[in-house]
Amino acid sequence: MSYQKQRNQLINLLIREGIINNQVLEAIKKIPRHHFVPKEYLKEAYENHPLPIGKGQTISQPYTVAFMLEALELKPGQKVLEIGTGSGYNAALIAELIKPGKLYTAEIYQTLIKKAKSILKKYSNIKVIKTDGSQGYQKEAPYDRIISTAAGPEIPKPWLAQLKEEGLIIAPIGTRFNQIVIKAKKIKNKLKKQELGYFQFVPLKGEYGY
Ligand code: SAH
Repeated sequence: MSYQKQRNQLINLLIREGIINNQVLEAIKKIPRHHFVPKEYLKEAYENHPLPIGKGQTISQPYTVAFMLEALELKPGQKVLEIGTGSGYNAALIAELIKPGKLYTAEIYQTLIKKAKSILKKYSNIKVIKTDGSQGYQKEAPYDRIISTAAGPEIPKPWLAQLKEEGLIIAPIGTRFNQIVIKAKKIKNKLKKQELGYFQFVPLKGEYGY
């Protein structure tokens, strides 16, 4: 079956699972997820589960990716910070959803950065940065949106400081094995939090991680 056909099937599955945001679905239909998975997993590129990408990390399950992006309420022109570039797949989707806005995506593992950079070089509105994203990325702050694809014990203070008023953070928070995706809105310098659901993520490392 062609990759486009597999992507269309994945879209149907995501709709059945409750994803309704058309822009998110269109982006998933367009971005070739198989470019972001290791060769040995090509056959599973469009299946609804996470896949290993090296260094003990994973490319998240498509449903989880779609769920978080829907919650993030992305709009063209926004400035976004992603923590956890990993394969670069989520970054490519965000870049598509916010263009001509700009995405800054932080990763700690050099090998993952190298791979992601080579795939993402055709996206002119993505900058991959080697930095501890648990501390945010002060240089380009403030951001309209911050999304983390690694789970930490709490929302790091620098993320609040680097978020615009009325901005949103989507991040998995909890213990190493049990996490809830939180949606937090910055109102009068404080975060108003909402719990969205249980998922499993790799741990956030660094200063504010595990
Ligand atoms: N968004 C990715 C998912 C990657 S999994 C994708 O679409 O493939 C989470 C990633 O977060 C891992 O690659 C891990 O190395 C990275 N990570 C963990 N702690 C981090 C930190 N403090 N700063 C930046 N990246 C971090």
